[in-house]
Amino acid sequence: MTARVLVLNCGSSSVKYRLYDGETIRDRGTVERVGEPGGGPADHTAAVRGILDRLDLAGLGAVGHRVVHGGRRFSEPVLVDDEVFAAIGDLVPLAPLHNPANLAGIEAARRAMPDVPQVAVFDTAFHHTLPEAAATYAIDRDVAERYGIRRYGFHGTSHAYVSRRTADLLDRPYAELRTITLHLGNGASVCAVDGGRSVATSMGMSPLEGLVMGTRSGDLDPTIVFHLRREGGMAVDAIDDLLNHRSGLLGLTGVNDMREVLARRQAGDPAAALAFDVYCRRITGYVGAYYALLGAVDAVTFTAGVGEHSAQVRAASLAGLQRLGIRVDPDRNARSGDRVISPDGAEVAVCVVGTDEEREIALQTRAVVAARG
Ligand code: ADP
Repeated sequence: MTARVLVLNCGSSSVKYRLYDGETIRDRGTVERVGEPGGGPADHTAAVRGILDRLDLAGLGAVGHRVVHGGRRFSEPVLVDDEVFAAIGDLVPLAPLHNPANLAGIEAARRAMPDVPQVAVFDTAFHHTLPEAAATYAIDRDVAERYGIRRYGFHGTSHAYVSRRTADLLDRPYAELRTITLHLGNGASVCAVDGGRSVATSMGMSPLEGLVMGTRSGDLDPTIVFHLRREGGMAVDAIDDLLNHRSGLLGLTGVNDMREVLARRQAGDPAAALAFDVYCRRITGYVGAYYALLGAVDAVTFTAGVGEHSAQVRAASLAGLQRLGIRVDPDRNARSGDRVISPDGAEVAVCVVGTDEEREIALQTRAVVAARG
């Protein structure tokens, strides 16, 4: 029985950790500014070492690592051995901003605790059920095959957890429920879940596609990239940085935090008002599109920072969808906690559910170690 599990989530400039003893969180924290000048640890290896030194890891049964890109190869969590480690490395070209940090975390933990099983839990795995028609971009097939160009989807751990929690909340069998889950954090994505299977999702080959995010543009015309290269003379890396780190809410308003955007909008700032409209309109469009793809919808569920806390975003994103049976009750919307916010008797249940990716990673990590026997 693997009671004690450490979960490590190495982001591009931070490491989040949680130490579980069964369901109990014994320790948790975030190390920020990794690899940034002035202050933080020099790199992910140093950050993970620091965390391991500080924690009481007596009796630790496993370490669960969040890994962003699992490519086509990984459709479920796996025990990390040399071959798996190399395979995650092979996926770096598909996820240059994410997989290197994940690998560094795994490497540091393996070195420090060679006898403790390490499990990789992939953000892409839940989406391995996407139909070919959903995963395929309409470009030359040979080119796509050669470069691994297809929709992989991300935030899978969250979409899986939240869609399952929605079934619990509604007291309905998960295998029968058709849900649209909206993960609105700093990164944001939407997923259509049909009986526990991801059948459509807004993030694509990378986490850049889809919804408007804190610093990412989401959907745009690819010609914008050529135009910035040809007419703007921007280097490819500079365009990559622009679209991933300086766009979205940040690009439109100068701040990436939705709370600040809402405050400025309230104060009459036109840039913040426009950003809010662009953000919510994109969500409305995806909800309508995924409704059409699912054919019928039982629940629409909001989660993550913005989704859990902003009644305004929820109300504005679903406004005008009454004809689809989607309604939000203002009083229920204004409350907090996991709950249904649609009126009684509504055709579609609109829900708010707190996501917990770390807990889900701990669960999956235990399952992998248990299956190994
Ligand atoms: P991450 O994607 O980094 O895990 P979260 O899911 O915690 O982030 O979401 C972070 C975002 O949630 C913040 O950038 C902020 O914009 C938003 N947020 C948090 N609290 C609120 C709130 N009360 N109202 C609106 N937005 C909020």
